Amino acid sequence: MHTLRVLSFLYMTTKIINALTTAGNRPKVLFHWFRHGDLRVHDNAALIHSSKIGADVCVPIFIFDEDAFGDKARTPYGHLKHGSKRAKFITESVQDLRKQLESIGSGLAVVHGEPASVFENILKDIPNNNDIDVSVVCQEEVSSEERDAVEAVRAAMKKSNYNGKRDIRTVWGSTMYERDDLPFDADLLEMPDTFTPFRHKVEKNCDINRPLPVPKAGSIPLNSDTVTIGSSLRDMLTAPIPSLEEMRYTDSQITHANENDSRSVMQFEGGESAALSRVKEYIWTKDLLKNYFDTRNGMIGADYSTKFSPWLAHGCVSPRYIASECRKYEEQRVENKSTYWVVFEMLWRDYCKYYCTKHGNSIFFRGGPINKEKKWSTYAGNFEAWRTGKTGYPLVDANMRELAATGFMSNRGRQNVCSFLTIDLNHDWRMGAYWFEETLLDYDVYSNWYNWCAGAGMTGGRLNRFNIVKQSKDYDLQGEYVRYWCPELKDVPNNLVHEPWKMTQFQQAENNCVLGVDYPNPIIAPSQPQKKGGKHQKPQRRKKGASNNAHQAYEMKSLKKGNFKFKG
Ligand SMILES: Cc1cc2nc3c(=O)[nH]c(=O)nc-3n(C[C@H](O)[C@H](O)[C@H](O)COP(=O)(O)OP(=O)(O)OC[C@H]3O[C@@H](n4cnc5c(N)ncnc54)[C@H](O)[C@@H]3O)c2cc1C
Repeated sequence: MHTLRVLSFLYMTTKIINALTTAGNRPKVLFHWFRHGDLRVHDNAALIHSSKIGADVCVPIFIFDEDAFGDKARTPYGHLKHGSKRAKFITESVQDLRKQLESIGSGLAVVHGEPASVFENILKDIPNNNDIDVSVVCQEEVSSEERDAVEAVRAAMKKSNYNGKRDIRTVWGSTMYERDDLPFDADLLEMPDTFTPFRHKVEKNCDINRPLPVPKAGSIPLNSDTVTIGSSLRDMLTAPIPSLEEMRYTDSQITHANENDSRSVMQFEGGESAALSRVKEYIWTKDLLKNYFDTRNGMIGADYSTKFSPWLAHGCVSPRYIASECRKYEEQRVENKSTYWVVFEMLWRDYCKYYCTKHGNSIFFRGGPINKEKKWSTYAGNFEAWRTGKTGYPLVDANMRELAATGFMSNRGRQNVCSFLTIDLNHDWRMGAYWFEETLLDYDVYSNWYNWCAGAGMTGGRLNRFNIVKQSKDYDLQGEYVRYWCPELKDVPNNLVHEPWKMTQFQQAENNCVLGVDYPNPIIAPSQPQKKGGKHQKPQRRKKGASNNAHQAYEMKSLKKGNFKFKG
């Protein structure tokens, strides 16, 4: 099936090239290679670049990499490189991308194969002369696998016997602030290794580019005067997106991908159309932007935070488009700390990509960018309890169950479960990062690996240990969230729901929650309360009747509002 698709793709390519060559032109043939993090037509710098090259034929292409999808594609610790839920989200996104490209008179060729071989085969079938320029354009990525993929395609193009001109070009994209506009040296060696000074310098010295328009109809030509699109190309451009079965996911993985757990914060559908609808709904229809700062630490439901992350991660929506909608909202409705704060959070996202640009592969190493010497536990029992939500710590368990069932977890949850695994359990942090890589719908190599490095203390600076019980009380005082995901705790009263180990045997029986039978005993001893004034404990005291978000109130005071500006 896949071989057939590759073959028909090659046939189509050859047909185009032959037609162009016989027409006596020196044709330019361009392959616009969509990869990940760029699955949209609006504000897509690489696509605009392709549309302006003046190619006679421009073939947009997406390759489902055989080595990255399916049950056999595993990380060094044995987790899936793409969990089936995210694979499904990507197939939906590719489907929608094809629709968007068709609406501007183009299309999308979809191949299931190994990128370097796909391009190598394409070149083999191009007539061996010097009269054709062949180029590949894609978005620039900075992590090793993505760069290696580009280098492999470059090498395949170079080593082929084809004599014509060929090159592969990458174009910066996906961040809110342009790399070239950053107030640091080209290699980013001067970029601060902590976020706050980075933010101050960037906000002071840089303006955000206005989002780029969708390429004009006809500017990504699949036809030219000298070429008629044959039936094989038409077939290729309309061939179905590979199914999860074709990508070799197992039956149970496919069932999991298709399950819409009704407890999920929302049902996420891949693609630019769904992304733009969510932006519209969150900002305009539900008018939620003005409250973001106060609600962002929630854990239940669609509206406590934007939920833009799965679409941002796959490039279905651009951060500059979201920032420009925030600015429009400020002009038309209200401007406050919340309207700034969504842009602030997206600056974190930029920071992750730039941090990874600066530090390269070290973000994946055991000792991280600071090369920290530390002995980590690899005790499988603890990791399994963490992964499956059976640690005996309700906040950790609820979040881990939510992740496994739905592919999403709140930012508050992610910080807590990361701290619990890496600091409380002292477990090899990379196993946590790989598990997130498998399960998250919004997995993004930079955001995930930077946040894990930082959470595990691999980036230097102060190690931020989260006191799980305290966090539970600050952010889930009534235990609503933990009961939602751990129904075993449904009859446990509020004052014990976050510390079920404090129940006497009598209370356990009375509350229908016998430890070790209905709900696990804690896998490590609960920590003792820290002394007053301890750094991690701020704020320590809570006044009667104070907000249940004491920690959040502390954060609000300590973080000053910044600013963002657009060019022009
Ligand atoms: C251990 C750990 C792993 C993480 N892994 C990922 C990941 O793989 N992909 C991912 O997109 N985010 C990751 N995050 C960041 C953050 O948790 C999610 O972006 C956020 O929870 C997504 O929900 P939202 O879209 O409603 O976010 P909102 O609160 O509405 O924020 C808006 C956007 O800002 C960006 N953002 C917010 N916080 C961060 C942050 N700390 N780092 C980077 N970007 C941020 C996201 O793109 C997000 O969609 C991780 C955080 C931690 C602590």
